[in-house]
Amino acid sequence: PIYLDHHATTPLDPRVREAMLPYLDTFFGNAGSAEHRHGWRAQEAVEAARSKVAALIGARPAEVVFTSGATEANNLALMGSADAAGPHVITTGIEHASIVACAAERERRGDPVSILPVDREGRIDPAQVAAAIRPGTGLISISLANHEIGTIQPLAEIGILARQHGILFHVDATQAVGRIPVSMPALGADFLSLSAHKFHGPKGVGALVVTRPARRHLRPILFGGGQEHGFRPGTLPVPLIVGFGAAAAIAQAAMPEESLRLAMLRDRLLDRLAALPGLRVHGGTRFRLSGSLNIGWPGLVARDLIHLLRDDVAISSGSACGSAVLHPSPVLRAIGMTEEEALGGLRFGLGRFTTEAEVDRAAAAILRAAPLLRR
Ligand code: PMP
Repeated sequence: PIYLDHHATTPLDPRVREAMLPYLDTFFGNAGSAEHRHGWRAQEAVEAARSKVAALIGARPAEVVFTSGATEANNLALMGSADAAGPHVITTGIEHASIVACAAERERRGDPVSILPVDREGRIDPAQVAAAIRPGTGLISISLANHEIGTIQPLAEIGILARQHGILFHVDATQAVGRIPVSMPALGADFLSLSAHKFHGPKGVGALVVTRPARRHLRPILFGGGQEHGFRPGTLPVPLIVGFGAAAAIAQAAMPEESLRLAMLRDRLLDRLAALPGLRVHGGTRFRLSGSLNIGWPGLVARDLIHLLRDDVAISSGSACGSAVLHPSPVLRAIGMTEEEALGGLRFGLGRFTTEAEVDRAAAAILRAAPLLRR
């Protein structure tokens, strides 16, 4: 099937694979072995990758803490800052499951949590963040780009607010990194989460980037050896980290052209699909990742269409993390859609290797299938 689910994950770029291969066998050393060449070689590779990851988000290499992915990075930011700052957490109603679950766990442990609403486009109003700040607010956690509707948030304003009030600011940039320019200093973020497999890197590696001044407000959630400044003990997965670095460098170089190409493909897809009357775009079009499109038709249940098209097109009804049971997407509910409308949400995510021909074939398949299912 044609793969149009790049929010869930992306295929490995062949150049990334090439970069990784030597570290799967020839250079197998432990990056923590400081006493011989095997270790040095691994350590050099890790540090080179660290620099590439840091460059992609305008951070310093020493600020990058490698993790198993963005879920772990989010856990480290939300659970690891629990004792250091004030107890009150501010987040939004459209966050990824890993943020939702960490916020719920903080609340269960007795910390107050404010979950802010978003508008029809999925945008958070900085004024609402300002209004939610109170004595004891310790952490604001907001994603830069949404994983279902692609909405990009006005985070720089919120970063300024956080700074003014001495509040830690965590940005889950997992969907944004590699797709739009991300600058940690420009966002004013203290902590930033990212994951390699969202931009054609390998699965199972990501990072929490911790600015130098914010370091003293973070405690580890895992304990062991002193790796990653003690924030993330454990032997580093050198091949994955090398792949992460390669993917970061490629994404940085490809981004200007790629984002334009994806926006054109996305608009072409929308244009084709609009041939079936009643189409609605969910989440607005003004502040959106260029490869993202979330749509629906009245009376069409997304699950039914996705199932009918399973041999032709791989699309989704929402986040891969919560899609085992039929329930309306909390993101679509949060932007004001009814339960029934939310069950109609079709998420398309285009990526580096998506072609015009694929878009046309996918649209044709959907236009054939959808009328059969509409109630
Ligand atoms: N945050 C967001 C916004 C995401 O889209 C995802 C991936 N679905 C994650 C966090 C989790 O990333 P990972 O798969 O690396 O754990």
